[in-house]
Amino acid sequence: MAAYEYETHDYDVVVIGAGGAGLRATLGMSEQGLRTACVTKVFPTRSHTVAAQGGIAASLGNMGPDSWQWHMYDTVKGSDWLGDTDAMEYLAREAPKAVYELEHYGVPFSRTEDGTIYQRPFGGHTTEFGEGPPVQRTCAAADRTGHAILHTLYGQSLKNNAEFYIEYFAIDLIMSDDGVCQGVVCWKLDDGTMHVFNAKTVVLATGGYGRAYFSATSAHTCTGDGGGMVARAGLALQDMEFVQFHPTGIFGSGCLITEGARGEGGFLSNSEDERFMERYAPNYKDLAPRDYVSRCMTMEIREGRGVGTDSDHIYLNLSHLQPEALAERLPGISESAKIFAGVDVTKEPIPVLPTVHYNMGGIPTNYWGEVLNPTAKNPNAIVPGLMAVGEAGCASVHGANRLGSNSLIDLVVFGRAAAIRAGKTVNRKLAPAALNTKAVEKAFERFDGLRYAKGAVATSDLRLEMQKTMQADAAVFRTSETLADGVEKMTVIAKKMNDIKVTDRSLIWNSDLMETLELSNLMPNALATIVGAEARKESRGAHAHEDFSDRDDVNWRVHTISHVDFASVSLSSRPVITEPLTAEEDGGISMDTIAPKIRTF
Ligand SMILES: Cc1cc2nc3c(=O)[nH]c(=O)nc-3n(C[C@H](O)[C@H](O)[C@H](O)COP(=O)(O)OP(=O)(O)OC[C@H]3O[C@@H](n4cnc5c(N)ncnc54)[C@H](O)[C@@H]3O)c2cc1C
Repeated sequence: MAAYEYETHDYDVVVIGAGGAGLRATLGMSEQGLRTACVTKVFPTRSHTVAAQGGIAASLGNMGPDSWQWHMYDTVKGSDWLGDTDAMEYLAREAPKAVYELEHYGVPFSRTEDGTIYQRPFGGHTTEFGEGPPVQRTCAAADRTGHAILHTLYGQSLKNNAEFYIEYFAIDLIMSDDGVCQGVVCWKLDDGTMHVFNAKTVVLATGGYGRAYFSATSAHTCTGDGGGMVARAGLALQDMEFVQFHPTGIFGSGCLITEGARGEGGFLSNSEDERFMERYAPNYKDLAPRDYVSRCMTMEIREGRGVGTDSDHIYLNLSHLQPEALAERLPGISESAKIFAGVDVTKEPIPVLPTVHYNMGGIPTNYWGEVLNPTAKNPNAIVPGLMAVGEAGCASVHGANRLGSNSLIDLVVFGRAAAIRAGKTVNRKLAPAALNTKAVEKAFERFDGLRYAKGAVATSDLRLEMQKTMQADAAVFRTSETLADGVEKMTVIAKKMNDIKVTDRSLIWNSDLMETLELSNLMPNALATIVGAEARKESRGAHAHEDFSDRDDVNWRVHTISHVDFASVSLSSRPVITEPLTAEEDGGISMDTIAPKIRTF
């Protein structure tokens, strides 16, 4: 038996993760006087949110007419009719409030001439329910929006006495025998001590799992730890087959060039110097949604019109833009292009390729952030004591495809919603629960098993094998054959976790062990992704299936629910919520307007 001593901490709420979602939840919880701890494996302002460039969507209407109903319509269409309509309405309706709150907290947004928040166009954001011209809806702090938001929210959280546990790694959830989440077991990375957090509510804000793939724009820390913990607790993951490829990762490094570059007038071209998006999307051209642009780029390359010596990528052109505009609006990406592609954007095009960027799927929640445990009888049943927000969660507002700048707004709207909900549901006077000691022991046993693992496969080798398989078999284009092959390979790869080798046995700054824990989290996320993709016999949003090229609303307008048990995945489904929150006569959107139709651009 693994014997680890640990310190116990009692809180009303423990938030795991200090990215945009975790910090907004932490701030909201502590503002309401809930005793709140925020646990994070990296320093808060190093969370991946810091890298978000382009901006945050909200229908402020500072640059022209806009409304939350138009924003909601675009989100519904962007999701390819897989998003939950109540959550999508909540997102679009609350977005302006959430952005003005950020402004008042101190986020240094770029400004218009008359001093209001500057907004830029982004893909898929339109006017008049998709009938009008593109809208300028994306609020930006130059091309460093995530950086600005993260620093502001961290400062505000400290001001409100939230307590931070920095460089603590959450290992597993503590669930009671009757399915209530009671807390979390953590390892303090810098001194090797163990910590058990006892909380009335645990909020998972652990971010995405982009690192399940070989080429990703996300940080190396994006390893889906929340999804891993949830899977091990026997709970569900949702819609994992929907993985967004961003059209413009720098060829080679995968480093992101924001969609804002196309928003400011940049365009893509092929080996014939053709601005090919005009052919595929006559209305929105280079600003069609990401799944569509990525697919068009892949098509150009497959048909032999790629650029470079191997004709295997595409050019993004910015050199026709005014150098002053580039310096003012896109300084960060000019620097990235120089460093990662050796390109001067004022003179040459940037070589780009679709790169894994965002996970639409995640831990299923309602629009208050409460985690769902869908059953046949009650598809919207909740898990008491457990919430999930941000990219780790799936509310689901992005459905099969996320619109650019709709993630940052998702972080703050649902981080805020979770805090509002917890303010009502958490009983501050209640004494801490008696923890399920069996669950605590089980977490330490798993930890100890990996710490002393003496198999044959090194963590970095197994991780690479997983990443390459996912990149080859679950990417932009998918066929029955590649997917079936991929499922078989991934099952073998997942089983190799039993043969893993860890060489460092210490507890202090043991990156070998930490990366192994992370791999044990990436694995169930990756498996659920490829198994879900193999099962879905249609094309919808980011899931483009060559053998089933049409969307099939009769059989497949449902959420995929997966339960991962080590190397096997069982699938079921949950109905999509099709009713909005507000009736048409009360100012809401009409059911006719949001009825499914073919997505054209
Ligand atoms: C390069 C890039 C640019 C982007 N640009 C935009 C944009 O312009 N607009 C937009 O809307 N979206 C953008 N996105 C998407 C968006 O930024 C992300 O979806 C979002 O930032 C995720 O935020 P989060 O709070 O959910 O997680 P993250 O910011 O990834 O934070 C995760 C947190 O969880 C903690 N954590 C994870 N696991 C553990 C564990 N086991 N124990 C303890 N702590 C843990 C980490 O320490 C971290 O604090 C971009 C994404 C990328 C990669």
